Amino acid sequence: MAQPIKVTSKIRLSNFKPDYRAGMSKEEAREQTTKLCFRIAELQQLLYANSNHSLIILLQGMDTSGKDGAGKRVLEFVPPSGVETTSFKVPSSEELAHDYLWRAHKAVPRYGHFGVFNRSYYEDVLVVRVMDLVPKPVWKARYEQINSFEKLLSDNNYIVLKFFLHISKEEQAARLRARIEDPTKNWKFEESDLEMRKHWDDFQEAYEDAINKCSTNYAPWHIIPADHKWFRDYAIAGVVVDALQKLKMKWPKPKIDLSKVKIK
Ligand code: AMP
Ligand code: MG
Repeated sequence: MAQPIKVTSKIRLSNFKPDYRAGMSKEEAREQTTKLCFRIAELQQLLYANSNHSLIILLQGMDTSGKDGAGKRVLEFVPPSGVETTSFKVPSSEELAHDYLWRAHKAVPRYGHFGVFNRSYYEDVLVVRVMDLVPKPVWKARYEQINSFEKLLSDNNYIVLKFFLHISKEEQAARLRARIEDPTKNWKFEESDLEMRKHWDDFQEAYEDAINKCSTNYAPWHIIPADHKWFRDYAIAGVVVDALQKLKMKWPKPKIDLSKVKIK
C-alpha cells in the first residue's frame, strides 16, 4: 500500500515504514532525483529574481537520520549564495538568555533565498521534553506557540516545509557502527548519540506528538522514509519542487521600457 509523505491527519509513527521505497529501485530513484534537483535550482533562480517569497526546509530526525546528507543532495545544483543554512545546536548562553524562538527567527532567510534548518525550534519540544530540560507545562505550551510562529511566517510569504527523517533503530545501529569503523566517519561519532539512543521510544513519542500537534495546512510535516538514502532524497526533492511550482513564478517584468534603452 502506498505510504503518504505529507501529514494531513492524525498519525501513528508505527504505521510508517522507514524502509518504504514506493516500489522504486535505487537507480530509478537516483535518476529522478537528479532531474528534480535541476528543477529545484531553476526554481530557486526564479525565487531570487522575484525576491518576494522564501522557502524554509526544516530537517528533523534522530542522529544519523541523514539531515546533512539530504540537504547536500537536494540542493546540489543551487548556488551557495542562494542558501542560508543554520544548524541548531545546544543553545549558547546568549540564546538561553532569550525566548526559544529568538534564534530561529534570526535564522529565517531573506526573501529570494532558501533557508535550511538542520534541527530547529522543534528541539524545544523534543530533546527538551525527553531529557526533562524544562518543566512539562513549559514545553506543553510550545506547540501552540510554534503554530503561531509558523502562521506568522506563512502569512509573510515563507513556505515552511518540515521533514521528519524516519529511520529504524536497526538502521541507526548500522550507521553508528560505520562511524566507529570507517576512519572517514570517525569524526561524526559522539558519545551523546548513544545516550540519546537509550531514549529511542521516548523520542519517537515526542516526534509523533510534535507532528500531530504542528502539522498545519500552512506548515505541513512530511514523514520521509529514510532507511534508504536514495529514497529519502527523492521524496524530499519531490516535495520541494511541488511547493515551489505552486507559486507559479514568472520572470519579473522590466521596471522601465527596455525598447527605449540604447547601449552605445
Ligand atoms: P548535531 O546535530 O549532531 O550537531 O547535535 C546537536 C545537538 O544539539 C543535538 O544533540 C541536539 O539535541 C542538541 N540541541 C539542539 N537544540 C537544542 C535545544 N534547544 N536544547 C537542548 N539541546 C539542543
Ligand atoms: Mg551528531
